[in-house]
Amino acid sequence: MRILLVEDDPLLGDGIKTALARDAYTVDWFTEGHHAIEAVHNESFSAMILDLGLPDMDGMTVLERLREASSLPILILTARDAVEERIRGLDAGADDYVLKPFNLQELLARLRVITRRAEGRASHTLTVGALSIDEASHSVSWQGLDVTLGRREYALLLELARHPDKVLSRPRLESLLYGWGEEVASNAVEVHVHHLRKKLGKSLIMTVRGIGYRLDRHAT
Ligand code: CA
Repeated sequence: MRILLVEDDPLLGDGIKTALARDAYTVDWFTEGHHAIEAVHNESFSAMILDLGLPDMDGMTVLERLREASSLPILILTARDAVEERIRGLDAGADDYVLKPFNLQELLARLRVITRRAEGRASHTLTVGALSIDEASHSVSWQGLDVTLGRREYALLLELARHPDKVLSRPRLESLLYGWGEEVASNAVEVHVHHLRKKLGKSLIMTVRGIGYRLDRHAT
């Protein structure tokens, strides 16, 4: 999943980015609101973490502008004593909030909640046929057996499993796996798919020629 992070505090932003990356998320981090709005128009993200106190443009304005055209799940970061700001944020379309200072594990948990809610899912376990992914613990099992995956392999499989009946194009998968400005080999997605097929068998991830990949929920 690719996350858009908008936070002007360098220490906090760096801490969040590191924690997200460790949790197999791809992160694009901006310190200014107008850059974030631009990014949402040009790239695809799975969710946004938005600090409401930004230097250039008020975080609330960013939120309102985004909500004019986008249903991207948004988690806002607000000060502990700013009750009214929090309420305004939720009313303006934020999906949830985290109070500063926060525990990074809590932030990650809330992020999982808003992304799975956007998919209409109540549980943190994703099941597609014989494949099961626990998003909280990152454990993956296939036909009842645990499988160990690399970070990008996990991220790729998760994207496919989140949209089990959809064909995801190679460029889209690439953009979800790699952030802006990251060096990407032209065959990166194919290489990860190749490794996943070695671990999960050949039938789960189907190639849709000329377009991309799709999970087969009937694969055995
Ligand atoms: Ca701030």
